[in-house]
Amino acid sequence: MIHNYGVHMKGGVITERDSDYCTVRTRMPAGVLSCEKMRGLAEIAEKYGTGEVHLTTRQTVEIPHVDQRVIEEISKDLEENGTPIGSERDEIVNIVACPGTERCKYANIDSIGLAKRLDSALFGKTMPVKLRISVSACPYACTSPILNEIGIVGRINPVRVPGLCTGCGTCVEYCSESAIVLKNGACVINDDKCVQCGICIQSCPYDIILSENLHYLITVGGRRGRHPQLGRELVEVSSENEVVAVIEKLVYWIYRRAWSGRLLSDQLDDLHFEKFKKEILEGINSEKPEK
Ligand code: SF4
Ligand code: SF4
Ligand code: SF4
Repeated sequence: MIHNYGVHMKGGVITERDSDYCTVRTRMPAGVLSCEKMRGLAEIAEKYGTGEVHLTTRQTVEIPHVDQRVIEEISKDLEENGTPIGSERDEIVNIVACPGTERCKYANIDSIGLAKRLDSALFGKTMPVKLRISVSACPYACTSPILNEIGIVGRINPVRVPGLCTGCGTCVEYCSESAIVLKNGACVINDDKCVQCGICIQSCPYDIILSENLHYLITVGGRRGRHPQLGRELVEVSSENEVVAVIEKLVYWIYRRAWSGRLLSDQLDDLHFEKFKKEILEGINSEKPEK
């Protein structure tokens, strides 16, 4: 018997094979959790579950095997712990992020900060389709943003200072895209091969490859699952504020115009992607920053 229908209807309450029990998924932007909250979650898992937790692909912690009759109580305890019940249905679900500039030496952007900002603005909003958002701070794309309905990747363009290269070849060795060659004793960057990771910038011992055009690539319409799809490039913007503005417009558009029960990528095909793109980007400051 379901004790509290309202709490039970939250997306993060997932009925198990044995429908008397459910798994309770928490909201955990970017998968970041203090030790205090971890201890709290451990106590809650012991009190209501089997004493185990499960780490999900969307960087949340879920508590398996909770009796449906105690959903209201566990919900209250999770709220008090600062790890409330999350979402999983046709909603904006847990926003994932790689470690970014907080820790990763390859990072171009603060992916965790951005994910938390997007979470505060958007988490849990009911949508016609499930909306996954993923942020990666460089083109290694550890959180697979291109396989999410909305993906964000931090990128940077390398530019060598003219005339100063010693031709030491260090950057050539570091570039795993073979996008740099030595010609006449100096390095030359091939923009067609460059994926804008910025690793060569850090590799030059003489600091003569400069970073230019730090930007955020936003993709839309990707997904994993039974019918995986790669997201399409929507826009490059040059500030976190612009990322938030574009994504808020995207979410509003999807909320108003998308149909339920169909992949977002299929819907974008039907709607003519270029037209959709123009509509979303209207009024956004920098559609494509100068290179
Ligand atoms: S995506 Fe890039 S910045 Fe983020 S963790 Fe992976 S390598 Fe580091
Ligand atoms: S930014 Fe990355 S891909 Fe581009 S040239 Fe430098 S190392 Fe190679
Ligand atoms: S590492 Fe620096 S100095 Fe060496 S080839 Fe590359 S740009 Fe030139």
